[in-house]
Amino acid sequence: MLKVENLVTGYRGKEGFVRAVDGVSFDIKKGETVCIVGESGSGKSVTSMSVMRLVEFENGEIISGSIEYMGEELTTKSNEEMRKIRGAEISMIFQEPLTALNPVFTVGKQIVEAIRYHQPLNKKQAMDRAQELLEMVGLSEPKTRLKQYPHELSGGMRQRVMIAIALASEPKLLIADEPTTALDVTIEAQILDLLRKLREEEEMSIMLVTHDIGVAAELSHRIIIMYAGKIMEIAESKELFEQPHHPYTKGLLESVPKMSGERGELLPTIEGTIPGLDQMPEGCRFAPRCEFATKKCHEENPPLESKRGRQVACWHVEEFLKSEEHHFSRKEDSIEVK
Ligand code: ATP
Ligand code: MG
Repeated sequence: MLKVENLVTGYRGKEGFVRAVDGVSFDIKKGETVCIVGESGSGKSVTSMSVMRLVEFENGEIISGSIEYMGEELTTKSNEEMRKIRGAEISMIFQEPLTALNPVFTVGKQIVEAIRYHQPLNKKQAMDRAQELLEMVGLSEPKTRLKQYPHELSGGMRQRVMIAIALASEPKLLIADEPTTALDVTIEAQILDLLRKLREEEEMSIMLVTHDIGVAAELSHRIIIMYAGKIMEIAESKELFEQPHHPYTKGLLESVPKMSGERGELLPTIEGTIPGLDQMPEGCRFAPRCEFATKKCHEENPPLESKRGRQVACWHVEEFLKSEEHHFSRKEDSIEVK
């Protein structure tokens, strides 16, 4: 359904031109949910905005690479052509819901507009459909909500309105960029349930961006691990958790907050921070934070390659896996001794 190849997206800033996404390739199949996971600043939003061709409305530019949707190349489409694809075919839920809603129009008017842009319904029919959509996203008193303005709703409610708008056109591919970051845990759980339902009942393909690997584990068929504008690993969700093949993936997995942890217990995180776009290291971008890094890692960038049945960008997969096995067997030994 979606095939991204060697995508490079850059921004023109004060310090010159920087590449926020640098040679990214992945695909999403029909009915598949794929999660993009990575620390803040790794290029997840820029990747999503590139697929929607929205980067050029900021100061960004797709420099090279290809984005194919149902066999059609999106990077060369005109703005007019893209407008037809956005919404009707591919819809997006944005990271910041407040900025995406228009404060001077009621919620109802905005949903109705989205519906009528794509479907030949009259006002009354579109209003009924809007109400149906608000019910679907679990908003209470949908009739009242339709008459309200965005500022009269809570953050969670606004996010649901955004999701309703994104679903108004019955898209085939839904891109959700951190759809639950601004929400409390109860509402987060409801939104995730909704996404699960869409995935199963509507056979929608979903590209879900999150920094929460727990959410990714629960929802996705496949997971893409991104770091500093590059993909580090792509694997089936189950396999990724069973055995990460990239040291960065392992670091992310260990950063998952443990429910059973004592209060105040420090959670393991990866030491160091993601490099700035204008200070990208030569070679593997994760090398400065990687305990397995060698001279080669600091000098040559590892390509994303199929290794042991999955895609991984690391010069030392074998060594890494060996050390993991060693680690695991030691852990098992100590359990046996007890
Ligand atoms: P987060 O988890 O915080 O949302 P992210 O993975 O979505 O992070 P992106 O928003 O994709 O990160 O940003 C990737 C890089 O691109 C960052 O270094 C960011 O500063 C840069 N960037 C994003 N948008 C712009 C822009 N409009 N102009 C210049 N640089 C940008
Ligand atoms: Mg983001």
